[in-house]
Amino acid sequence: MNDFGLDVWGDDNFVIKDDTININYASKPSLLKITKDIQEKGYKGPLILRFPHLIKKQITTLFDAFDSARDEFEYSGKFQAVFPLKVNQFPNFVDNLVSVSSDYNYGLEAGSKAELIIAMSKTPLNAPITVNGFKDKEMISLCFIASQMGHNITITIEGLGELETIIEVDKEFSKSIKNYIPPKIGIRIRLHSSGIGIWAKSGGYNSKFGMTSTEVLEAYDMLKKHNLLSQFWMIHFHIGSQMGDIAPLKKALREAGNIYADLKKRGADALGAINIGGGLALEYSQHEGKQARNYSLKEFANDVIYLMQFISQSKGVAEPDIFTESGRFIAGTHAVLIAPVIELFSQDYHEKSLRLKEINPPLIQELYDLWISIKKENAKEYLHDALDQMESLLTLFDLGYIDLEDRSNTEILVNLIIKKAIVLLRDENQDELKKLQDRIQEKYLVNFSAFQSLPDFWGLAQRFPIVPLDKLDTKPTNPSSIWDITCDSDGEIAFDRELPLYLHDIKVDEDEYFLGFFLTGAYQEILGMRHNLFTHPTEVVINFNENGEYIMDDIIPAQNLMDILDDLEYKTSSIDKRLKYLIEESSILNSKEKSDILGKLYLYLSENSYLKTI
Ligand SMILES: *Cc1c(COP(=O)(O)O)cnc(C)c1O
Repeated sequence: MNDFGLDVWGDDNFVIKDDTININYASKPSLLKITKDIQEKGYKGPLILRFPHLIKKQITTLFDAFDSARDEFEYSGKFQAVFPLKVNQFPNFVDNLVSVSSDYNYGLEAGSKAELIIAMSKTPLNAPITVNGFKDKEMISLCFIASQMGHNITITIEGLGELETIIEVDKEFSKSIKNYIPPKIGIRIRLHSSGIGIWAKSGGYNSKFGMTSTEVLEAYDMLKKHNLLSQFWMIHFHIGSQMGDIAPLKKALREAGNIYADLKKRGADALGAINIGGGLALEYSQHEGKQARNYSLKEFANDVIYLMQFISQSKGVAEPDIFTESGRFIAGTHAVLIAPVIELFSQDYHEKSLRLKEINPPLIQELYDLWISIKKENAKEYLHDALDQMESLLTLFDLGYIDLEDRSNTEILVNLIIKKAIVLLRDENQDELKKLQDRIQEKYLVNFSAFQSLPDFWGLAQRFPIVPLDKLDTKPTNPSSIWDITCDSDGEIAFDRELPLYLHDIKVDEDEYFLGFFLTGAYQEILGMRHNLFTHPTEVVINFNENGEYIMDDIIPAQNLMDILDDLEYKTSSIDKRLKYLIEESSILNSKEKSDILGKLYLYLSENSYLKTI
């Protein structure tokens, strides 16, 4: 397993060439080369690399899947999609998303006023904007303003109160603007079916969002009474993120489809779209047989088109346009977090730490011989012998017959034997060996913050694929845990016997060893928190020129120390003054030393919080 499950999660986006993991695009550069190039420019600490070609690939794949399904079923409704901004609002992502999607009339979805402003300023005029979530009068008015700008905008109402506000704002705008154009209106429905998995709270009867059938009927009457039925054109639902199973979606589609058909028959003539929300899952698993998703994109698209066609035909109504708001699927693959390993713990179990004597106690000599002569054929037997002798040796220590050096030699030798046995017996996949791996696991201290960069690991135990950037021609043998540099014991990705991560044995003072954390482009950046004041890492956009060579664009460095404090509303000028004063007034420094130290201080203040070892 040298490929770190690339076949399971990689989707052909990366390829292992010789000993490195490379981008499977254009000149196929290695992530290691890119990382070193960025470091040479002076950027230290963890990095986020963004790949616009991967955003484009996801958008193209999504549209292609639905277009093929529409062709196959001769479906008459259109397929349209928007990107839900809550999944990634960073400008280096959004600007690239908008530019790579220009062929698709792809739009944006907003769930708050600030996101709406992004959508209003970045969405091309014909592309759709949808607005979900709870809204006040101001937010609704912003939607009306967008509509006057010429935007194709749909307000999704979550409750009757919002509809009342829409009616009120509609009256105000129609009075004050001569050629007034109202926005389109959608209704979010509350389904009795709901999603599954850790993100499933968005659908179902107890969900925070959507209207019951009674409320939908009432909304219909209100729209009719206030002459807004002509604007009501979309039914919306969202059953939760990262749907591993397709069954709940099918149930939701049947439910939503029948609501659509019924409302149309009732007289909602403008109604012409079903928005199926997001939820399309990504495969995060690094392990064959532990996949998180039980369907393909083709199956997903076919199910949606088939069911909508079936319901429309049986009820005798027009086939609706299909909208999706997939976020994770579109953004997840485009970003890779890269962080250097700065230290290995449990190095004391290394051969070089042995303190063997001229004459060792016989049991220790035997352990040593077991370690030297262990082979595949005898590995199990020798392993059992070693564990047995360790018990005896520890007892001898307790009784005072051997000394601390002997005890240390015992621990080291037994660990070395276990390590060797595991490698020799790797293919046998025995429970006993799996358990022993916990004992010999190596802790890799990595220059990043799990709170800042993998918040879904912290909050939801979501795993992300982890791959070292080189040495991939060598079998990794260390069962590994990953420690981040926060002072918090939650910042550890512990070794998991069922989903084991093996990394290479390295000497950190000689080797640079970087880990890539993949599929981190969705949700992680904005949910990331500044625990211990570690901030958003330095980010770089990687594009390719006509010759297929990569170019680094739009580098945004991680915030420096003073900017971090400024963000917390510290008065940085008085901090600056105070630090300077303390140096200048120091009674132990002469004036040359003072100016040297001041120089150092200002250099450090201009850098970010991450460690500077590599
Ligand atoms: C969060 C959200 C999405 C995106 O879901 P993904 O699982 O990321 O595709 C889409 N629509 C709505 C209404 C959402 O709240």
